[in-house]
Amino acid sequence: HAEIALNAAKNEGRNSLYFFSSSLSEGIRERLLLENDLRHAVERNQLVLHYQPQIDLHSGRLVGVEALLRWEHHQLGILSPDRFIPLAEQTGIIGEVGSWVLQEACRQIIQWDREDCYIPRVGVNLAVQQIESGLLVRQVKAAMQQAGIQGERLELEVTESTIMREPDKATEAMKAFRNLGIKLTIDDFGTGYSSLAYLKRLPLDRLKIDRSFVMDIGAHSGNEAICRTIINLARSLGLETVAEGVEEQHHADFLQREGCDIAQGYFYSKPLPPDELAEQCKAWVKSSEC
Ligand code: C2E
Ligand code: MG
Ligand code: MG
Ligand code: MG
Repeated sequence: HAEIALNAAKNEGRNSLYFFSSSLSEGIRERLLLENDLRHAVERNQLVLHYQPQIDLHSGRLVGVEALLRWEHHQLGILSPDRFIPLAEQTGIIGEVGSWVLQEACRQIIQWDREDCYIPRVGVNLAVQQIESGLLVRQVKAAMQQAGIQGERLELEVTESTIMREPDKATEAMKAFRNLGIKLTIDDFGTGYSSLAYLKRLPLDRLKIDRSFVMDIGAHSGNEAICRTIINLARSLGLETVAEGVEEQHHADFLQREGCDIAQGYFYSKPLPPDELAEQCKAWVKSSEC
């Protein structure tokens, strides 16, 4: 198709169309190649999880980590989830990928335990398709059993749009997770539109303030007001707040002053491969003992 579009454009002498068509088909070709590679990424052991620390703003302690997926592509290098999660979602590959993420996160918790690096809890991001499939609760249970961990060691993150797209299935799954002792968090809170009535009814534990609001603390009073409002909303619903994207000391200071419970961001640490996370964790424990 690329060649046909190209020739047609050339013959008509329409350069703008020529550029547009060729870049579009380039995009489609890249997408097809990527999709094909993604189908084999799990079996070829190309997926890895990096882990980003979450710090309790009251005690300064490490309370958990968020698992963030990376794809070590043989030609393109390390790809971030924004490059391939949407593709995985559109093609249904997310089912296999999501299941791998759950198993791997559970396995890693036990491995750290064995290495004397106790990470209280690992957060895993869920895609809407995982909830739609109806297999999620079984998958989570299987992953926990296989690794031999309790639900208290896990946190699951879903976005508002995921919940609002599948409210009944999401509620049902979340109730099952609550019974297993798993913590439940709404990710990127404030960017979607969730009904407050739902928030009250769902078995939630945490609201995670979206990075876009945290980023502008100190620069944009409107976004400071949004952070404050989310913290207060969470408190009145009996939920904890987590702030993502904390990059500066003054972000952390503001959030702490406003009563935010947990912070995560480059100010503390980037997402790290598991062995580096373990080293960091040991260093932190040592420094806090001094
Ligand atoms: P998210 O769950 O909201 O994750 C937070 C993102 O912000 C991560 O991007 C993280 O690396 C980045 N981040 C953390 N601290 C900072 C900071 O201080 N400054 C800035 N600028 N960024 C920060 P990442 O790892 O690229 O992940 C992007 C998104 O991909 C995630 O957003 C999540 O929605 C999705 N994702 C990641 N892993 C998985 C997964 O295993 N399954 C699914 N379904 N989605 C995933
Ligand atoms: Mg998340
Ligand atoms: Mg988030
Ligand atoms: Mg976000």
